[in-house]
Amino acid sequence: MKIVEFDDKGQRVETDAGSVSSSLGSSSLAPRPERPSRAPEASRRGRNSSGIELYMFQTGTLRTKLKYIKMNQGESDFEIPVPWFLIKHPMGNVVIDGGNAIEVAIDKRGHWGAVVDAYDPVMDVADNCVDQCKMVGVDPHSVRYVLQSHLHLDHTGAIGHFPNAQIVVQRREYEYAYDPHWFSSGAYIRADFDRPGLNWKFLGGEYTDFYDLFGDGVIRTIFTPGHAPGHQSFLINLPKTGPVLLTIDAAYTLDHWENKALPGLVVSSAEAADSVAKLRQVAKDTGAMVVTGHDPDNWKTFLKAPHDFYD
Ligand SMILES: [Zn+2]
Repeated sequence: MKIVEFDDKGQRVETDAGSVSSSLGSSSLAPRPERPSRAPEASRRGRNSSGIELYMFQTGTLRTKLKYIKMNQGESDFEIPVPWFLIKHPMGNVVIDGGNAIEVAIDKRGHWGAVVDAYDPVMDVADNCVDQCKMVGVDPHSVRYVLQSHLHLDHTGAIGHFPNAQIVVQRREYEYAYDPHWFSSGAYIRADFDRPGLNWKFLGGEYTDFYDLFGDGVIRTIFTPGHAPGHQSFLINLPKTGPVLLTIDAAYTLDHWENKALPGLVVSSAEAADSVAKLRQVAKDTGAMVVTGHDPDNWKTFLKAPHDFYD
């Protein structure tokens, strides 16, 4: 039994669990071993949290080709992170996207089908968002909202795994996910979002733009269609860090952000370009720190959970 942890740079570190391994079952739901307290304390020591904390996680990576991320830019290999985000907030914890579903770590082709030939997931069972929440002391029952940027397969890992959460999505995206065009159908895994007993909240595109989740200006949605019909990005306003713009897949990478690439998967290139322009204006107006959706180099520059957070 290996324990997977992350060092201060967000790199994976595997160690033998030793004697605690006998207490662990093979189930992914088995409790994780206690983390050595020195690791997280070391990076947070001396910090008085503002009470609102943004954690940047990932559920592994996808091995793909450049053209599948940057339209028409070639066959070379390209490996991208699969980020997701957790926000601790006094009015309830919030998960954004949740990365890949846990099933991907167990049987990727069984869960995703032939799409793994284009986007091959590299994910351990321990990388699922529920267990990663527990690593920073968040009980899944305490998660009040799951915000969905869109419903592509590398963003739907939280749905159905937080029993008290309302799931917030654009109505246009939800409806499209059940009846996508042929070219994007592989990106929607119905088993992830077509589940009984879910509590959905639907947003209305331009009519609900800049929806303020708690009414305190901390978490806002920004309607950014193009990559997917009902894509939305998020503006997080943190007390100490200031504004953080999570573009998600409205800008996969800094090349997309800088108008040097269109998405390899897109329903409207014109809308995708308009959405980047809209987000660039938001970033200009607010001075936000910009976090792109799947940029391997940009992603390396941020403070990573579970060791660190923004507040
Ligand atoms: Zn996507």
